[in-house]
Amino acid sequence: MKIIRSPSAMTAWSEGLRRESVRIGLVPTMGALHEGHQALIRAARLRCDALAVSIFVNPTQFGPREDLTNYPRPISRDRALCEQEGVDVCFEPSVQAMYPEGFQTTVNLPVIARRWEGEVRPHHFSGVATVVSKLFGMVRPQIALFGQKDFQQSVLVHRLVKDLNLGVKIVVRPTVREHDGLAMSSRNVYLSPDDRVRAVTLYRSLQAGAEVIQKGVRDGKAVQAAMYQVIKAEPSMTIDYLAVCDPYTIEPLSTVTSRVVLLGAVRLRSVRLIDNLLVTVPRRRS
Ligand code: AMP
Repeated sequence: MKIIRSPSAMTAWSEGLRRESVRIGLVPTMGALHEGHQALIRAARLRCDALAVSIFVNPTQFGPREDLTNYPRPISRDRALCEQEGVDVCFEPSVQAMYPEGFQTTVNLPVIARRWEGEVRPHHFSGVATVVSKLFGMVRPQIALFGQKDFQQSVLVHRLVKDLNLGVKIVVRPTVREHDGLAMSSRNVYLSPDDRVRAVTLYRSLQAGAEVIQKGVRDGKAVQAAMYQVIKAEPSMTIDYLAVCDPYTIEPLSTVTSRVVLLGAVRLRSVRLIDNLLVTVPRRRS
């Protein structure tokens, strides 16, 4: 496995392969790789000939009071996992290489970026959209894989690729969970043992929403209320948002129709957790 740090070396590798019609895949990550990333890498391996995994803790998607400096960076372990999964290139650009002096372009998707995560983290998605655009420009993949875990991000990336004609096929893979249902996340290491047990309440709340839909509830507010009720029973958790949305636009739904996404973000003391569940609404029997 090659370790490439410079963007120009990354592009040179890619361009050489593209001339030979090799299909290049990219899995963008911030490192601290876990089984969720591993599943994405495995899915990518099956869909391309040459696979790059980028590891870059992107400062522009962190807010001023967020965990940028403490974000876990176990780089040797990450490289070992990539090597084991048959990754061809680990792309590890420096912050300086990504944002050299004079850098000024940002990519904004004002509608998607304003909602949900964007309300709590106002600059997050312009950071994400900009870095994803840059990574696509450097790695030139034909296919890139993202996790459903960051549902809003996946919607944003689809829109970005379409709007800017980036010509990258986007594949979104299901969320990988711990045995109790907690969505795997690099940030779960911040949870104390007690909070780790409580953390699954977010997933339970999404499940409660899905259950009432399965039972026939169609009013968006009533589904949301079912989710709220579960979180409210856990006093150490505070809610950023719990929402019942259209999975394509992520706009809230007053009435649940065919397919919905339940989105949730909560805080357990200083740790922020996000999760989501896609629900196919059963047809009413006539
Ligand atoms: P991150 O390193 O957190 O930026 O995540 C890199 C990619 O891995 C993103 O596309 C995430 O959505 C995806 N990812 C993170 N956690 C999971 C998970 N538990 N299951 C599946 N994909 C995930």
